[in-house]
Amino acid sequence: MTRAIDIGLAACETCELVVRTAAVPGICPRCGEQVHIRKQNARTRSWAFLAAAAILYLPANMLVMMQTDSFSSHREDTILSGIAFLWREGSWPLAALVFTASIVIPLVKIISLGVLLVSSDEHSTRFRHGRTLLYRVLEVAGHWSMLDVFVVALLAAVVQLGRFAKIDPGPAILPFAGVVILTMLASSSFDPRAIWDRGTHE
Ligand SMILES: [Zn+2]
Repeated sequence: MTRAIDIGLAACETCELVVRTAAVPGICPRCGEQVHIRKQNARTRSWAFLAAAAILYLPANMLVMMQTDSFSSHREDTILSGIAFLWREGSWPLAALVFTASIVIPLVKIISLGVLLVSSDEHSTRFRHGRTLLYRVLEVAGHWSMLDVFVVALLAAVVQLGRFAKIDPGPAILPFAGVVILTMLASSSFDPRAIWDRGTHE
């Protein structure tokens, strides 16, 4: 499979102008941005963001996400216990929505990025088209990442409209937001062209 680099071409990351690799690293003649053959330190940065996201996934799920106070009771819920509570109360569509947005999607993103990083680190030649597609899906899904946080906000609104008097976010909200932001950074740091590289790109 011929890559642009094999025929001496590189693209500007900012304006996508194609330049000769002989002029790289250098300044893009059109937009003035630094041109590199591949994103700088893509592997290291992507791994670092991903590791941080994976670590924060634990407190995001283990700490209290929501504190609800009614006239007679006080409840503290993690994401999972909140989902179980919604399920028992009969709000199963909402329980399914929160489960998907808050547990499944972040976990799938972390695992998918891990697969992309490990396979490109090993210069695997298997499923290159599939892995490229996986990266595209992750990038598109990244634009909707705030949906995870939105669902929690929606949940808060629904519960507040119900029989509870007061609802406050718990300490889990910070690591949870961290997971969302760090997985976005990890996927934007990853250079998908690494999927098609056969060794170091040089
Ligand atoms: Zn440019």
